[in-house]
Amino acid sequence: MYHFIVIGNPVAHSKSPQIHQAFAKEFGLSISYRRQLCPVDMASFVAVVEAFFAGGGTGANVTLPFKEMAFEMCAKLGYLSEHAKTAKAVNTLCLKEGELYGDNTDGQGLVNDLSDKGVCLQGKTVAVLGAGGATRGVIAPLLQVGAKVSVFNRTAKKAIALAQEFSDDIIAGGLDELSGYYDVLINATSATATGQSLPIQQFECQVAYEMMYGKPSPFLDYARTQNARCFDGYGMLINQARLSFQLWTGNHPLSMPVVW
Ligand code: NDP
Repeated sequence: MYHFIVIGNPVAHSKSPQIHQAFAKEFGLSISYRRQLCPVDMASFVAVVEAFFAGGGTGANVTLPFKEMAFEMCAKLGYLSEHAKTAKAVNTLCLKEGELYGDNTDGQGLVNDLSDKGVCLQGKTVAVLGAGGATRGVIAPLLQVGAKVSVFNRTAKKAIALAQEFSDDIIAGGLDELSGYYDVLINATSATATGQSLPIQQFECQVAYEMMYGKPSPFLDYARTQNARCFDGYGMLINQARLSFQLWTGNHPLSMPVVW
């Protein structure tokens, strides 16, 4: 029997229990997966994680606003995957040989989702809009598959500073500098989550990807008028979960559960 939790605040909305139960069914595994609300401070987070693993827990997902705290905890008390180090955030925890291990499957989840959809990224121009945690997590996996990455953010200096952490080859600037054609355009801002339109004029792309899921997206609405192939972040959610499940159980699920 495997025991999993997702730690967040709020966490009642999380679809992770249903997603992982569907994965477990695929392999005939018996699991428990519950939501764990945690007060938003480091001491409470550490206490929740330690109690969970001391009580025989197998693996934990970490969602907002704890991904950076989980990174700090693993840096101090355990160790980190390369993806977690570059993302400076952790969304998946487990014990490896008794030591706390933190991974970040978000960025690879996005790349895998695009691959599932038949979008080849090698040598393609990919512009990422936003310079927050989600963008930080996807840059390295995009570079690894050979994409030519640009980053544009409302606050230009954040995009420039972020790009410099990864490579001098990344073009970075303000959203107002976005122009011309990109093979893939990824909206990794939280504008859609807050019901806002992006302050960008026009864009052209073959593929438009909205990281947010389950909300109307003015970004995708515009992209559709340009005949772009349009996707929301539901597949990224499933793919990051697949990678967590694989880390915890050794099985890579292929099902795409519909939990909406
Ligand atoms: P952050 O809060 O770390 O960053 C938010 C970014 O959005 C900043 O760059 C900010 O710009 C920008 N932004 C916010 N509002 C606006 C606006 N009105 N116009 C233009 N830019 C704006 O968020 P995350 O990076 O963690 O998450 C970004 C999105 O990705 C969220 O919608 C989240 O739900 C989604 N996501 C989806 C996942 C999935 O599995 N599908 C996984 C992870 C994230 P500035 O710097 O100027 O403030």
